[in-house]
Order: sequence, then structure tokens, then C-alpha cells
Amino acid sequence: MRINAIVIGSGVGGLASAIRLAKLGVKVTVFEKNAFIGGKVHTREFDGYRYDMGPSVFTEPHLVQELLALGVNQDSFAYHALPESFRYFYPDGSRHTLPTGMEATRDVLVKEFNEDSQRVHTYLKRLKKNYEVLKPVFIETTLHRFSHLFNKRLIPAILNIPKYGLMTTMDGFSKRFFKNPKSVQLMNRFATYNGSDPYKTPGLLSIIGHLEFNEGIYFPKGGMVSITQSLAAAARSLGVEFRLDTPVQSIDVKNDRVVGVHTSHSFHAASIVVSNADAHFTYEQLMPHVKRPSKLLRQELSSSAVVFYWGVKQTFEELGVHNIFFSEDYRSEFKAIFETKTVVDDPTIYVHISSKAEPSDAPAGCENWFVMVNAPVHVGQDWTSMVAKIRTDILRKLNRMLGVDVGSLIATEYVNDPVKLQQVYNGKGGSIYGNSSNSAMAAFYRHPNHAPGVKGLYFAGVTVHPGGGIPLALNGAKIVERMVKEDYSL
Ligand SMILES: Cc1cc2nc3c(=O)[nH]c(=O)nc-3n(C[C@H](O)[C@H](O)[C@H](O)COP(=O)(O)OP(=O)(O)OC[C@H]3O[C@@H](n4cnc5c(N)ncnc54)[C@H](O)[C@@H]3O)c2cc1C
Repeated sequence: MRINAIVIGSGVGGLASAIRLAKLGVKVTVFEKNAFIGGKVHTREFDGYRYDMGPSVFTEPHLVQELLALGVNQDSFAYHALPESFRYFYPDGSRHTLPTGMEATRDVLVKEFNEDSQRVHTYLKRLKKNYEVLKPVFIETTLHRFSHLFNKRLIPAILNIPKYGLMTTMDGFSKRFFKNPKSVQLMNRFATYNGSDPYKTPGLLSIIGHLEFNEGIYFPKGGMVSITQSLAAAARSLGVEFRLDTPVQSIDVKNDRVVGVHTSHSFHAASIVVSNADAHFTYEQLMPHVKRPSKLLRQELSSSAVVFYWGVKQTFEELGVHNIFFSEDYRSEFKAIFETKTVVDDPTIYVHISSKAEPSDAPAGCENWFVMVNAPVHVGQDWTSMVAKIRTDILRKLNRMLGVDVGSLIATEYVNDPVKLQQVYNGKGGSIYGNSSNSAMAAFYRHPNHAPGVKGLYFAGVTVHPGGGIPLALNGAKIVERMVKEDYSL
């Protein structure tokens, strides 16, 4: 008889797990609380402006291709490399566009930021090398099964430990290579890619920048949502069934073994359950009677975000697909997010404009701005007044830095804040990545891809190992596949 599996959630981690388990011959049903597939990678349209509601930076497209190749008769998933990575705007009025590729990136950092060529080269090579030795051991492998972790690839990873920057923060690591505070701020930005603080997160996490600098950023035709649409089509081609608008209300466990899930109407038996929902939510809401890994769940949460989706009635030559407007005082931003749980008056602003790459995303002569500010998780703040203040502050800053009254150009507007993010996706306090990585041991305080005390229960998604971002969630599903294969002799 075929093994039954239930996947809770259709985010990228859930879709990837569903495809991989179905390919193993398992009968897979995905339960999704929302009316749409894709989790944070979904799309909405407001008055003729189309938006990807969550992720916008797409790296490592081969991970998506690899999954689609498992499906049957798949239409091709099209994407192209963007010619540049980000445009950076600094408070003093200076502007820099970073290209992609190691040499071209180094040249800009040397010429425009006055950095030392050899040091920049060493930094970029170090990121690449660190990524390559760490990937097979810490990204593609669970840290929680000796048979997976202990293999010959562990040796180079161990030998390179002194080079990771584990004993310093990301900020300290950046300062070893860069002298211009602007380059340091730019390198420190990568801590935000998993919701962390560059003044606390270990230098090791600088490897995140490797993908953008050395390998490049890609843009999927049709926008980010085409990633989850293609994955869902591949899953269906393998027989995966989707139940939308169907929140799982409990995971049922008997004698330390998962037996199925309850939705509001019925019980669904399964011998395998993969939770793609936030790990905190899974323990606290779906199985409150199961013993929790309290130490893991007590770690500081990652950041959340306030996102404005603005339809802008003008086009801006000076802006690209990805733009950063830096703050004057980066350190105070993170103090506010993680300590006082507020947002500073002058936050760094990310403006993503997909209509630069996909003109049909906005009416002619207009642009679809996705304007994001990192924010603390919800701990009871008054988000109505905080969002109003953030809006005023960032408009003032954008007006000054772009020399136009941006507010008067906004034709349509929608806003997401930590409370809404929590409501829509069930992430604790609206946190985007579960736990932050604000300590040297953070990788070991992430929940594993299986539940140690419950046979048949697995986890895939950015709140568990190996961590935040689409590529990592896709790797997490690979780890789940390997565990299931072993545990069920498939
Ligand atoms: C504003 C924003 C910007 C981001 N930018 C980037 C970026 O540029 N690049 C990048 O790589 N990452 C980015 N991220 C992070 C990104 O969202 C993740 O990398 C990825 O999409 C998360 O995938 P996931 O599989 O972990 O989970 P999610 O997308 O969170 O999916 C989890 C799913 O579980 C469902 N669910 C929860 N509870 C239940 C339940 N009880 N029953 C049924 N279903 C349930 C949810 O509805 C959801 O569909 C961003 C996130 C946000 C919010």
C-alpha cells in the first residue's frame, strides 16, 4: 500500500517537499490555509499594478530547475540573469550600481568606494570558498544525524573553520576587508537576508553575499510567483493533491508517532507529515501536547517587515529592479528592531520595481514599487500609528534623495505589517525567518528537519534548518527527502 503523506503549507519548502516525496512514490496531499498556493511567494494586483507580495531577490535558479525536472511534461520555467545586482543610494547623495560577477564587482568597489583591490578580491574569493565548503555540510545536510553529517566533505569544512569569521560579527568580518564605511554598510546588509543583526550575527553569514556578488541575481519571467506556480504544476503532474482554504488545526500523534492531521471538518490519516508552517506555530498551535524543544524555541526571533505596495504614476531612470536607500546610522536600526522593538526615524529602504524587468507589471509610464523597511516582530505595538509614521519618514527621505514628491505620484497603495504577516502566514509575531541568527551558535539552535520525539514528522521551510531564503528552504526539502527515504526504506 502507498504511504500517505500530508504537507502543511504550500510555501516553496512545502511545494519542494511535496514534489520530492511524490517522486519517491508517496501519496501526497498539501493542506494550505490560504486560498492561494505559494505562501509568501504569491502575487496580487491592485488597479493594474502587479506585485510579488514577498520575495523579490532570486538566486540559485538551478534549485528550481532541479525540482521541475522531477515533474512530468513540464512547461519550461523561464528566467534571465539581471545585468546588475543592486543600486545603492547613500545619505550623502552618492549613488553606486553594483554589477554581478567577481571581477566586475571588485572593480566597482575599488574605483567607486576606494577599496584595496587585493583585499576586495580576497573577500569575494573567501565568500565563494566558504560557501563551497559549507554548502554540502551545513546547507545540504542535516546537522542532526551523524550518518549524514560525518562524511568526507566534513573534513574541508572543519579545516576551513578559522576562515569563516565565527569568532567575529558580520560587521567585524566586513571591517577586516573594507575601510570605507559605505562598503562595510553594504556588506553588512546581508544579515537582513535571514532577518538578523549584522552587529551580532557571525561573520560566517557573509557567505550570503556570495550568491549575489559572484553568481548573480535572476528574474523569473512572469515574476517571482512563476516559481511557485511552476512548482505547483510539477507537483500536480506527480499526482500531488492540493486542498486550499484548509488550515490544519492539529497534528495528531499517538505513541510518539504521527497518525494524521485534523482540519476543521475531519481527520486525515497519514504516516508522514511535513510541516512547512513556522516551527513555533507548529509546536504551539498544532501539537501543544507534544514536548517542545524549548531551548530552540526560546531563541530571539528574526525581524519582520513593513511593506508598502505603491503604484507610482511616473518612471524613474535612476532606479533599477533592486534599489537600497541606506540610513545614516545602520547600527541604531538594528538596536531598534531587536532591542526596543521599534523602527528608527531614518530606516534603510528597499525599493523593488519588477516592472523594470517585466513592463506589463505596471500601466504604461508607471512603475510598481515594493517598498520595504525591516521591522521588529509584533509584541503589542500600535502598528497603525507606527506604519503612518514610517510612511511619512520614508517619503521624506525618498523625496529628498530622488528630488521629487513621491507621495503625490502614488496612484494606489496596499500595506503589509508584522500583524498582517502573522495573520496570513502564521509566522510567530510576523517573524519572517523564525529564529534570528544573532549568535555564533545560531545554526545549532535552528529546529532540525525532523521532530526528534515524533516519528513521521518532518519540517521544511525557512524557520528550520538550514535557514532563511528560497534556496535554503529548497535545500531543506532535499534533506527531508533523504530522511524519509532512509526512515521508510524507499
Ligand atoms: C516581505 C518579504 C520579502 C522577502 N524577500 C525575500 C527574497 O528577496 N528572497 C528570498 O529568498 N526570500 C525572501 N523572503 C523570505 C521568503 O519568504 C522565504 O524565503 C520563502 O518564501 C519562505 O518559504 P517557506 O516555504 O519557508 O514558507 P512560507 O512561504 O511562509 O509558507 C508557509 C505556508 O504554510 C501555510 N500554513 C501556515 N499554517 C498553516 C496551517 N495551519 N494549515 C495549512 N497551511 C498553513 C502558510 O499559509 C504558507 O502558505 C521574504 C519574505 C518576506 C515576507
